[in-house]
Amino acid sequence: MRIEKFLEEAARVSPGKLAVIDHDDRHYDWAAMLEGARQMAEALAARGVGKGDRVLIILENSAVAIATIFGASMLGAMASPVNARLTAPELQTLVEKSDASAVVFTVETGKWPAEHAAHWAGEPVETSVGSVAIAARAGAQPEPGGEEIAILLFTSGTTGTPKGAMLGQAGWVDSAEASRSIRSMTEDDLLYLALPMSHVFGLAMVLSCTKARSVLRLESRFDVARAHAALKEGVTVLPAVPQMHAHIFAYAREHGMERYKDGPLRYVSSGGAPLDPVWKREAEAFYGLPLQNGYGMTESSSGVAATRSKMGDPDCSVGLPMLGSELRVNLEAPGADPEKGVGEVEIRGTQIMKGYFRDPEATAAVMDGDWFRSGDLGRFDDEGRLHLVGRTKELIIHSGFNVYPAEVEAALTEHKGVVLAAVVGRQVEGNEEVVAFVTPAKGADLDEEGLRGFMKERVAPYKVPKRIVIADSLPQAPTGKILKAQLLGHFADRL
Ligand code: ATP
Ligand code: MG
Repeated sequence: MRIEKFLEEAARVSPGKLAVIDHDDRHYDWAAMLEGARQMAEALAARGVGKGDRVLIILENSAVAIATIFGASMLGAMASPVNARLTAPELQTLVEKSDASAVVFTVETGKWPAEHAAHWAGEPVETSVGSVAIAARAGAQPEPGGEEIAILLFTSGTTGTPKGAMLGQAGWVDSAEASRSIRSMTEDDLLYLALPMSHVFGLAMVLSCTKARSVLRLESRFDVARAHAALKEGVTVLPAVPQMHAHIFAYAREHGMERYKDGPLRYVSSGGAPLDPVWKREAEAFYGLPLQNGYGMTESSSGVAATRSKMGDPDCSVGLPMLGSELRVNLEAPGADPEKGVGEVEIRGTQIMKGYFRDPEATAAVMDGDWFRSGDLGRFDDEGRLHLVGRTKELIIHSGFNVYPAEVEAALTEHKGVVLAAVVGRQVEGNEEVVAFVTPAKGADLDEEGLRGFMKERVAPYKVPKRIVIADSLPQAPTGKILKAQLLGHFADRL
């Protein structure tokens, strides 16, 4: 099975049914979506794209971006959606890393798109679901057997530079069903998508909606006022990263709305980054629904575990394995704490990547047979739910004691004046210091000493951050994920 079968099936069964509400409010049905994908396939083929080639897609969330992904797949090429807000030099790196034979972009707005257009001299292509420019790139080498790879997707770069994961056709077919079934999505659903399609979470939503023939409402960027308007208009499924939920309930509070009322919203989920327990409570109070927490990563074509919580459940785990994923915890991995049952989370299933693109060494470092080493640390509770405690790379060893950043971050956000907290280790004379970065709530009067005093009452002395930097914003990926690897460098002059 290949992913384009979802689209062909949707167009066959429900050709005239609303499929996508584009970011510019245009409506497209499934027949138009399939037509658009076929037109993209034709346009790419005319520029020499074939089996095993990569198509770099530099588009914001849009109907035409979806058509491009399916169109590339129809040719046996790998679609590689990347964040459209990267700068021209950043994109150049990805063009080279992916050895793309075609680059698809928009020339509509903004400084960077205009620069890309000048740089790549693309030709305009019109489809039934929007227009793009395509630039063919000479000399790219097809990947043998590459027609079995649906997507070449870059990781967020939280712990280093982004890596290109080759995600198989069969894996995405299974992953789409796992994402669909956990949400029980059907033709009657309307899913609100402000998550970028260039990230695994957003991409999984696009594919699972196509499989379910649900309506996808696309946003080209997250805007809290628009999110509230969409909720009023009848969204039924709302997937978002924790930061988006925090914006939604903070906006509600600022506007005197106590809670979301009277709509058909039925499934709200968080994923992609740790869910702060305070945020979980506040989000649930606003939506009046349980906030489900899902765990996944680029290399696993999205979700591998998710909660099935009830309202008010204090559970802050990432729940039980999702369809098609097996999980285990390796107590011998670096950073493990066997006494507490904490080890590295390893995952097996068809959704696991076929390797990092043209990087056998990096691939070998994360694969143990067919088990993928996630780099996340976690433990199972008595009910088999997985609790994440941090990442192996982020584990701080202070004077011989293990400090898990997630625990310190959760304690920091217990403070009313703290919105966001990120904790990292800093090497100082053979030891590692705990350093925290926090963003203050609107109007909060925070100071470092006061916060340290607050922490001393809550966590063991070795976990109390040696330094706490208070800053209005932290370096973040487009999904809102904090780029921890950049924090110490970014704030070097304040440490
Ligand atoms: P890189 O691999 O380049 O350092 P990244 O791992 O952040 O970046 P992604 O694949 O986007 O790139 O993110 C997957 C990671 O996000 C997981 O390995 C895990 O650390 C974290 N994550 C995802 N979902 C959750 C969740 N529900 N709770 C806690 N952490 C999560
Ligand atoms: Mg990762």
